Amino acid sequence: MNFSSSDNRVQGIGVAPGVAWGPLVLLPGKIHSVPRRALSQGALDGEVTRFRGALEEAEREFRQQTIEFGGDLDEAERRIFDTHLHLYQDDVFREAIEKRIQDGKINAEAAILDEIQHLTGVLQGMDSLFRERQADIRDVGQRINRILLNQAQASLIGGTEPFILYARELLPSDTLTVDRTRLLGIVTELGGAASHVAILARAFDIPAVSGIRDLESRVRPGFTIAVDGTHGQVWLEPTAEQTDELEQARSRHLQERERWNVRASARARAEDEAGIRVLLNIENFEALRPEVLASIDGIGLYRTEFLFMGRDLFPSEEEQFEFYRGVVERIGDREVTFRIIDVGGDKPLSYLSIPKELNPSLGWRGIRLTFEWPDLLIPQLRALLRASRFGKVKIMLPMITTVEELRQAKELLSQLRDDLIKQGEDIPGLPPLGVMIEVPAAAMASEDLAAEADFLSIGTNDLGQYFFAVDRNNLQVARLYQPLHPAMLRLLKNVIDAADRQNTEVSVCGEMAGEAFPVLALMGLGLRRFSMSPSHVPEARWIMEMFQPDEAAALVNHLLDLKTEAEVRSLLQQAVQERSEASQS
Ligand code: PEP
Ligand code: MG
Repeated sequence: MNFSSSDNRVQGIGVAPGVAWGPLVLLPGKIHSVPRRALSQGALDGEVTRFRGALEEAEREFRQQTIEFGGDLDEAERRIFDTHLHLYQDDVFREAIEKRIQDGKINAEAAILDEIQHLTGVLQGMDSLFRERQADIRDVGQRINRILLNQAQASLIGGTEPFILYARELLPSDTLTVDRTRLLGIVTELGGAASHVAILARAFDIPAVSGIRDLESRVRPGFTIAVDGTHGQVWLEPTAEQTDELEQARSRHLQERERWNVRASARARAEDEAGIRVLLNIENFEALRPEVLASIDGIGLYRTEFLFMGRDLFPSEEEQFEFYRGVVERIGDREVTFRIIDVGGDKPLSYLSIPKELNPSLGWRGIRLTFEWPDLLIPQLRALLRASRFGKVKIMLPMITTVEELRQAKELLSQLRDDLIKQGEDIPGLPPLGVMIEVPAAAMASEDLAAEADFLSIGTNDLGQYFFAVDRNNLQVARLYQPLHPAMLRLLKNVIDAADRQNTEVSVCGEMAGEAFPVLALMGLGLRRFSMSPSHVPEARWIMEMFQPDEAAALVNHLLDLKTEAEVRSLLQQAVQERSEASQS
């Protein structure tokens, strides 16, 4: 148990910032055990039919709930729910359970449980990148079993009282049965910063802490629980004094956020003077708030794979062309960098069957996959070439490892342009073609890549994962993922300097590009183009307004020689603190 015995404060992992308190509600409706029955040979076909009926009903119920919540689902959720739909329709999954019923002569509930345990066990052993996929599998299994057991779906919809939710694990579809308008905060045992619970909590601006064990044994429903998602702490029945402190922390958080929102709504003058460009990473253009769109210099990473998800077939060239054209026309004279579909690894696509791999994140993903899948790559490139007539289209290649891959893509793009021209299309020129630096080998070959590419964009999420050999979703090793480690800074410097020497534009589009301390470090390393998720813009601009690039550079000079990430963080923190105190006084 991770409770401190002397006080009522519990340390967990903060996964979504903010402070809230209220009465505790335990997530109901979990099936903790299922009956296990031996069946006679004659009963097996009937049992398979019963299972198929429940599977169909589970898919129908799930679809219905997602439709009901449709307007509220954001891209991150859609991405998760696409995986669920895939499982409900997966013949291999269905047949494996049917085989367990037939071969084991057991009831459907037990067969499902066995198959779920088998699959999650395999994923655990294979590659922990799949930790979150295990939650999806358990989620789907729970739903089918609940239907088989005729249990009503427990729901936290209805009622009027706001509450703090505790669940050992919040499964993705649980969010469909919780009334978000009453949800003040979330506490879970399982789930790291990149887990479903974290993605959903951040999307809905709800403070959340995970890593809290045994809460049920310490409290009863209705107890007051306070959640500080910024510091990863939970209080059980906070005292009046603690509530005062929490109130202050809450208002500090709200004020800070308000300040950021105000900043985000106006394009910062300081940025222009320093030659800094703030770009966005997006998945869904429609979800962008107009004031955010108005305040940025363009789209630095459009994750086009989301256009391909949540459907049964590839979108056609024509459909893609209309879509890309719509985006570039609405963004006007600013740039849009479309990344070529990046699937494989941890990003499945239901209608693309990728053979099982022992190490998917080291396997057939990104450009490695699309080069061998012309049905996917060619219509997308043709659609982008055609859309480039209507605005500033840039094309970016994910997971590039070698210069040959870049050359192959360049050749293909130019060939496709010639074909289109022969077919009577008006294609002004070749749009800039850039590469993502996500693989350490590419980072070390960045000068060669910069010499032949039109731009580089450093994807620090994957680059960090491969550089430190750490899956960020694996809590066991997550502490070793250290984007501010001096070694990582030296690697980034290598790429930025190489691009500068070649006069090639370079940006960062990983999460680092929007977080306060990393933004300061990157500015100091000479970076001027930052592409970030919309929610990070205020935080990044806060730093960009406070520091001139040459001040950041002077600071970073000291960082490169340090030995640990903790030392780097503490120096950056000190600099930010001093500067923000000075600007407030
Ligand atoms: C990255 O890897 O840093 C990146 C931006 O790509 P994604 O997060 O989509 O993998
Ligand atoms: Mg990536």
